[in-house]
Amino acid sequence: MPKTALITGASSGIGYETAKTLANLGFQLIICGRREERLKELQASLQLQTPVHILVFDITDRQAVTLALNSLPTAFSQIDLLVNNAGNAHGLGPIHEGNLDDWDTMIDLNIKGLLYLTRLIAPQMVARKSGHIINVGSIAGKEVYANGNVYCASKHAVDALTRSMLIDLNPFGIKVGAINPGMVETEFSIVRFKGDEERAKKVYDGLQPLTAKDVAEVIGFMASLPPHVNISDLTLLPTAQGAATVVKRQID
Ligand code: NAP
Repeated sequence: MPKTALITGASSGIGYETAKTLANLGFQLIICGRREERLKELQASLQLQTPVHILVFDITDRQAVTLALNSLPTAFSQIDLLVNNAGNAHGLGPIHEGNLDDWDTMIDLNIKGLLYLTRLIAPQMVARKSGHIINVGSIAGKEVYANGNVYCASKHAVDALTRSMLIDLNPFGIKVGAINPGMVETEFSIVRFKGDEERAKKVYDGLQPLTAKDVAEVIGFMASLPPHVNISDLTLLPTAQGAATVVKRQID
């Protein structure tokens, strides 16, 4: 019986590549997101390899999350690995000019969404005394940077929650860990800058950022360690990055 992994935010970027990596490792998958078409494409590309079930829901909608999880067919109802990946930055600006809708979205998505999924799935892991939760944090959960205020706060919350979850779930033999990437070229900056692709591209000008696949492969490594080994906290940076806002760019 293959192990089952549930990945949030699997329609794009790190989550999409993580689905492919975990399929290669033999997991059957539950892939989640709002963009059903993207999830269907991913399902079609993987289903010769492993069974893939799609859950379409907005993770900020508590009721929708519960309904989706309760709809899982029996074959997918035991979740061995939860990858709390869905998340985004919305906007980049000083605190006194912040957009309240962006703030609500980041708090609801990056913190509350992760909590909703964890609260629904952790009890079955506790009952079985086994399981693994990997939270996708960020370098923004380790440092703060100018104009990053609420995004950084939301990722610091992920950092605190990962450490808390590790302690709370320790008596039950459940692994909990975080991967905290630096700059990864995905749709992240396009979302942050509200569809402004030109501005998003500039973020990576003159440097080689991580790819989503780079991050996914490390998640795959975390997921394939022996039962007694847990990576609890890991920061993954492109070589060109020294800290959240310290980057080496090639100037032509
Ligand atoms: P991405 O390409 O924009 O992917 C974000 C994913 O989150 C998408 O699959 C999206 O799916 C999902 N999502 C967003 N809002 C959602 C909602 N309301 N309900 C359900 N799903 C939602 O960005 P990414 O870089 O892969 O980001 C993945 C994680 O890595 C995030 O937690 C991010 O904070 C973290 N991270 C990224 C970077 C970076 O530089 N890229 C660095 C550090 C950490 P739908 O739109 O289909 O719902």
